[in-house]
Amino acid sequence: MQLADFPRHPLLFGPSPIHRLPRLSEALGGEVDIWAKREDCNSGIAFGGNKVRKLEYLVADALAQGCDTLVSIGGIQSNHTRQVTGVARHLGLGCVTVQEGWVDWPDMNYDKVGNIQLTRIMGGDIRIDPAGFDIGIRDSWKDALASVEAAGGKPYPIPAGASDHPLGGLGFANWAVELATQECEIDMFFDHVVVCTVTGSSHAGMIAGFALEDRDDRRIIGIDASATLDKTVDQVTRIATNTADKIDLGRDLRNDEIHIVSGYEGPAYGVPDQQTIDAIHLAARTEGMLTDPVYEGKSMAGMIGMIRTGEIPAGSTVIYCHLGGQPCLPAYAGAPGLG
Ligand SMILES: *Cc1c(COP(=O)(O)O)cnc(C)c1O
Repeated sequence: MQLADFPRHPLLFGPSPIHRLPRLSEALGGEVDIWAKREDCNSGIAFGGNKVRKLEYLVADALAQGCDTLVSIGGIQSNHTRQVTGVARHLGLGCVTVQEGWVDWPDMNYDKVGNIQLTRIMGGDIRIDPAGFDIGIRDSWKDALASVEAAGGKPYPIPAGASDHPLGGLGFANWAVELATQECEIDMFFDHVVVCTVTGSSHAGMIAGFALEDRDDRRIIGIDASATLDKTVDQVTRIATNTADKIDLGRDLRNDEIHIVSGYEGPAYGVPDQQTIDAIHLAARTEGMLTDPVYEGKSMAGMIGMIRTGEIPAGSTVIYCHLGGQPCLPAYAGAPGLG
């Protein structure tokens, strides 16, 4: 099946905006032209973000199957479960989210403000679980699914990050097509795409979507923020391969199409280090563009680092894919430099 033929339930404002980051480009030497494509302002639902884009395909399937409750999983400060709950509300569906202790963060209000606060305001059914960080499938999530069935409901299972799901990669495969259309409109070509990667389907979907172009002058760079690199590499490879297959790419992905960079993940998932904080400050203070300490601050640090070292060489045109995530910032007010 072609990508355009998959059912999609519209949840976004339309194509997410792209714009230049001239003062950030200048601060990094002025030799690389940096732009951003903004999934952090892609939708009016619960502040939007990359998960809303992925969910356009998953909820089309949920509605077609007559499901009445979305069931998902994430950390206490999960952007994903906030977006799943918002989308459920928007569609008039129920929502159960298992929220695990993925991050050992000492902020007094960590379990009260930010994403979890927004999820509670939307009336989400939150099941707190003490388990630690893992992007895999969990028993607590299976228990939540069983509890919806026991109550006579019809659950629709959405794995962590809406990633390890047959339709998980489609949202960002479509992102690649959308970017190519925007490039035509402004007569530009971005030879580097920088994106944060953890549960993997944003990056993997893009890999599959851009592979349809079949050109070798565009590098898709995933910056790892999981700090469990091998699992993320496996998951990105698997989802990219499955998605490419699903949208009839008609060839195998090459090894050089899957490019994940480590060194910017900090000490652990959800914990920023000095280079994360410095990157958040630089983007905020040159452009007024806010990024978070869990994901986008790390991919921002990765882009900055790769420009400074010349791994992204002078003369490049870069699009930084901003996946959202700012709602967690209040939970990190205790981090040096963030409060
Ligand atoms: C989930 C998330 C990511 C990671 O995307 P994956 O598709 O899970 O790899 C990056 N940034 C933000 C803000 C997110 O919420």
